[in-house]
Amino acid sequence: MACIFCQIAAGAIPAQIVYSSSDVTAFLDLNPQAPTHVLVIPNRHIGSIAELGATEAELVGRLVAVANDVAQQEGIADSGYRIVANVGAHGGQTVPHLHLHVLGGRTMTWPPG
Ligand code: 5GP
Ligand code: ZN
Repeated sequence: MACIFCQIAAGAIPAQIVYSSSDVTAFLDLNPQAPTHVLVIPNRHIGSIAELGATEAELVGRLVAVANDVAQQEGIADSGYRIVANVGAHGGQTVPHLHLHVLGGRTMTWPPG
C-alpha cells in the first residue's frame, strides 16, 4: 500500500483526523494554505475526482456532506469557505488519491493561481 492517503485512511501513518467513518476520512493538511485547511478523502483508493461518474453518486454526496460538516465543525461555515478538487498535472494535483480541500478562515482570492 504505497499511497500515502490510503495509509492515512487505514491509520497506518498518523494525521490529525477531524472526521472518520467507514467510507470517508477528513484530516488537517500538512502544509495548510489557509487558517483552516482540511482534506476529505474516500477511504478506498480512487485516483482523482475525474474517476467519479453517475454510478458513484452516493460517494460524491458523502464527500460533499462531510466537507460541509467539517466546515461547520471547524467554525468556518458562516464566514464562508472554498472546496477544491485538483485533477492531474495542470490542475495542480500532487497526491494521486481523490481529496477535497476545504479551505477557510480568510478571504480567498480569485482567480486561483
Ligand atoms: P493536491 O496538491 O494533490 O491537490 O493536494 C495534496 C495535499 O496533500 C497538499 O495540500 C499537501 O500539503 C497535502 N499532503 C501531502 N502529504 C501529506 C501528508 O502526509 N499528510 C497530510 N496531512 N497532508 C499531506
Ligand atoms: Zn490511495
